[in-house]
Amino acid sequence: MQENREIRVIRAGKAGVAVNVLLAAFKAVVGLMSGSIAILMDAVHTLSDALSAVITMAGVWLDGKKKGRGHVFENISAAIVAVMLLSVGIAAGVSAWEKIVAPAELSSYSAIDIVIISVAIVAKLLLGRHYARVGREVGSIALSAAAVESLADSAISAATLVSAGIMLRYGIDLDGYFGMAIAAVVVAAAVKSLWEILGASSKDDAGGVTRHS
Ligand SMILES: [Zn+2]
Repeated sequence: MQENREIRVIRAGKAGVAVNVLLAAFKAVVGLMSGSIAILMDAVHTLSDALSAVITMAGVWLDGKKKGRGHVFENISAAIVAVMLLSVGIAAGVSAWEKIVAPAELSSYSAIDIVIISVAIVAKLLLGRHYARVGREVGSIALSAAAVESLADSAISAATLVSAGIMLRYGIDLDGYFGMAIAAVVVAAAVKSLWEILGASSKDDAGGVTRHS
């Protein structure tokens, strides 16, 4: 049962590494070809998501080595992923704020930007839903935190796409306002994840005490 759980989390983590490495490589190639710093930065972020999938797998694997004495390492993995999510939310908020206070500089989107954003929305949505399903079925808080991160990435990309559409159709730049709304949702999700992880770790600690007494 415990074995099976470990295998399933690690399999989901491998899927996460594959999806994020492919997506990061795609963004990096496009970023290098178009010389876009924004796309290259986005590629680095996606690569960090592959790393957080590795951290999730490592946590579950390390817990497996200890043979059923709580999920200490998995809770640490989940906390790292949630802190990464918090930093994504804060970064999105800062860049949105900059766009709101300096509206003279209009956002511009090329056809290739639209393609990248669309691919990212679908890839991150599917990955996030997969993480969430496996996380719920096996009760993995680290996978659930990774699911929130992946879905947040998808939502950020979707908001960018919608505001790009409004920009192209009506010539109004709402990028900053959309970005700010999404950043608030992401920060709230990260805080909620951290809160749940804290609750899970204290439960694990209590469980450990019961087993030892
Ligand atoms: Zn991400």
